[in-house]
Amino acid sequence: MSWSPAERAFRDEVRAFLDAELTAEMRAVTRRMTSVYAPHELGMAWQAILHARGWAAPAWPVEYGGCDWTPAQRYIFASEFAEAGAPPLSPMGIGMCGPVLIGHGTAEQRAHYLPRMLSGEHHWCQGYSEPGSGSDLASLRMSAIDDGEHLVCNGHKLWTTHANVSNWIFCLVRTSEEAIPQRGITFLLINMATPGVEVRPIFMLSGEHIQNDVFFTDVRVPKANVVGRIGEGWTVAKYLMEFERGGGVSTPGLKARLKRIETMAKAEASGDGVRLIDDTKFRARLADAAIRIDALAAAELQVLANLSHGEAPGPRASMMKTVGTELSQHLTELALQAAHGYGGLYQPHLAAPGGPVPGWTAPESQGQIGPDHSLTAAAKYFNDRAGSIYAGTNEIQRNIMAKAVLGL
Ligand SMILES: Cc1cc2nc3c(=O)[nH]c(=O)nc-3n(C[C@H](O)[C@H](O)[C@H](O)COP(=O)(O)OP(=O)(O)OC[C@H]3O[C@@H](n4cnc5c(N)ncnc54)[C@H](O)[C@@H]3O)c2cc1C
Repeated sequence: MSWSPAERAFRDEVRAFLDAELTAEMRAVTRRMTSVYAPHELGMAWQAILHARGWAAPAWPVEYGGCDWTPAQRYIFASEFAEAGAPPLSPMGIGMCGPVLIGHGTAEQRAHYLPRMLSGEHHWCQGYSEPGSGSDLASLRMSAIDDGEHLVCNGHKLWTTHANVSNWIFCLVRTSEEAIPQRGITFLLINMATPGVEVRPIFMLSGEHIQNDVFFTDVRVPKANVVGRIGEGWTVAKYLMEFERGGGVSTPGLKARLKRIETMAKAEASGDGVRLIDDTKFRARLADAAIRIDALAAAELQVLANLSHGEAPGPRASMMKTVGTELSQHLTELALQAAHGYGGLYQPHLAAPGGPVPGWTAPESQGQIGPDHSLTAAAKYFNDRAGSIYAGTNEIQRNIMAKAVLGL
């Protein structure tokens, strides 16, 4: 596929922007990321730069501060960012809650929340999962009792990514008990500073603090914060999940990572002339990954084209989530192999984790074992195990595809 002259001009504009705005330090931190999330401060600083250029929300309509770009432009934009090593933005606000407000919110909600989401004044997290209600999300129990102008919320959300750095959370709450569990659920926006909201950390296998427990005790939320109708939040929730699973572009990032693995494999193990790239089996694995990434890229472009015609991603989102996360996990395995003997070492003090790693001291005071490119292989491998669990496990995505696509 080749780009048109106008698309090539757009690519050059994006490149010029990245050359001017993305500092060497930002690129270095992004290269050492171990999670799908950049360190919070870096992510917010980069969002401010994008917002100043009007590029914080490529997928939103122009009237709400987005770019209204064509699918090709969005793909080019994501590719250039991945190539240059720009930090990815946290998706919960602009990538998930934003499309929901545009699709289901009132004019007042859009006017209030969307500009603050773009500027980073509001930083969002997602309160869907609860203990016992992950895959079986409709069984959720966090209660919201009608008290006139307010809903009074009590309950416990679990695994909430970035609740420790967010000032707003969108929640699914139960406003009534119905025979069908999907009914009686409401989509609610809650200010995290409201009395009765308490956040406690959960630590990942890789040591990072990114996820949290969030407890709600008699939290009073104005009814004006309900998105859609009371009791009909399941429709809104499903709409959001399509964007969560398949509204973005992941293949440029996967391609950039594969290229880095190739570079690692070209290095000698320890100055002894032995290079992994000369191993035909490893080269075949690289080629296989490249082909699978290209196939996913074709599907992504198809979804982007549908989105530009106003369609939601639909069940194809489940396929993209499953293939994308499994490819990503496969790349972490290739990277471990390409890091030679250094792959097993876990040195988070030299990496850029997506959240603080308690107990580790400052980089200057610790030595480095192995070459730069091997530093994050182990931490990234551990962190990426979560990819087939979050946003709905891959088993659940396969169930959705079996039903919605294959009609089984
Ligand atoms: C790193 C991370 C970040 C997360 N961030 C957030 C967040 O920000 N906000 C949020 O709301 N949630 C978040 N989650 C929660 C995530 O959505 C849930 O963990 C996920 O939906 C699975 O639910 P569960 O953990 O309760 O597992 P369970 O639902 O108990 O599943 C356990 C196992 O059983 C399998 N299983 C369950 N039901 C079926 C079935 N019907 N058919 C086949 N297999 C089945 C599952 O695939 C899984 O392997 C996060 C999770 C992780 C790990």
